[in-house]
Amino acid sequence: MTDRRRAQPGARTTAVRTGLGGANEHGAVAPPLHLTSTFTFESLAAPRAYDYTRTSNPTRDALAQALAELDHGVGATVTSSGMAAIVLACHLLGAGDVLVAPHDCYGGTHRLLTALEARGQFQVRFVDLTDLGQAGDAIAEGPRMVLVETPSNPLLRITDIAAVARLSREQGSLLAVDNTFLSPALQQPIDLGADLVIHSTTKYLNGHSDVVGGAVVAAEPDLHLELQWWANCLGVSGAPFDSYLTLRGVRTLHSRMRAHEENTVAVVDLLTSHPAVSRVYYPGLADHPGHEVAARQQTGFGAMVSFELEGGLEAVGPFLGSLEYFFLAESLGGVESLVAHPATMTHSSMDPLTRKRAGISEGLIRLSVGIEDPADLVADLAAALDEVTEIAATRAIVR
Ligand code: PLP
Repeated sequence: MTDRRRAQPGARTTAVRTGLGGANEHGAVAPPLHLTSTFTFESLAAPRAYDYTRTSNPTRDALAQALAELDHGVGATVTSSGMAAIVLACHLLGAGDVLVAPHDCYGGTHRLLTALEARGQFQVRFVDLTDLGQAGDAIAEGPRMVLVETPSNPLLRITDIAAVARLSREQGSLLAVDNTFLSPALQQPIDLGADLVIHSTTKYLNGHSDVVGGAVVAAEPDLHLELQWWANCLGVSGAPFDSYLTLRGVRTLHSRMRAHEENTVAVVDLLTSHPAVSRVYYPGLADHPGHEVAARQQTGFGAMVSFELEGGLEAVGPFLGSLEYFFLAESLGGVESLVAHPATMTHSSMDPLTRKRAGISEGLIRLSVGIEDPADLVADLAAALDEVTEIAATRAIVR
């Protein structure tokens, strides 16, 4: 009889099953939570597989295994936050090395890289990596590492990962891709030529807004070992309980992403047709400048969408104040819908000129679309946008 089972399980099977039913005393299906800082030695000079949790921990390893499998890497280093993951990746650079980074990246990343450069840790060239001409010129100088964030936060700009990977490889530069906005469910940077994948697992991978965490997945064993060494040395490893919760989130990643995306399509339909909205940034729209690249390198357009309010900054307060189902909060990727005002929230650490250059206006709104009933989300947004339109009309009459 032929065995119909596939040699490699699909991604959804991997997300659900990695680490399940491992050897344990009671045959528990879910892997246990090892809440311990330290492990006994069998005897002098005879440590067991684990000795101290900063170095390694079975619960964190179970999450790392799942992330490495989902991202098609050889190993993952789980960190205490997304920023810790970026700090960790930056330790692959030394003084005098150059890092090429996107000029419009997440505000916290921009702040970190600028501060580390000021300390002389390495040099940073901020460029528009969505423009392959600019990317090529910067990479021609032979940086040690190129950092890509695609889709970018908050404007959902798309960088062609395979093209930047080719340019980086020609110069012997490492390519790291921040995959936070899509997760491995919708984008596979290592398959496109990246050496490292960075995640804020705080977002879609955990998916329930109750953990801050991160990870760096490596394509090659040497890079993985170097990252593991630095994570232990720096003490940036993720906590076991956070790892446990994040692995629990990973089990439903693919189902959640599908629900997030379905809702986003409905939300984008409303935004593109409402007069209170002057511009919508969503890679799924045919007129988005990165649409073709996104369609090629992503398996979905994701659930982050940004838009400009026609009324600019004046309209922001009334709009936000009128929403019921979108919490005004930083972060993204949880099951519940969130709304943010990047200029004063996620990107407030960028100076105003850098923010302007990055295209982040004062009337820009960012949504993280959750998995609630789409009709509720659309009705809520429509009511808030109608209110903004009415206020603008009243003001016009009074003036
Ligand atoms: N990378 C991106 C694209 C982000 O949006 C964020 C946070 O919003 C981070 C990294 C940092 O992650 P964390 O907040 O988990 O430190």
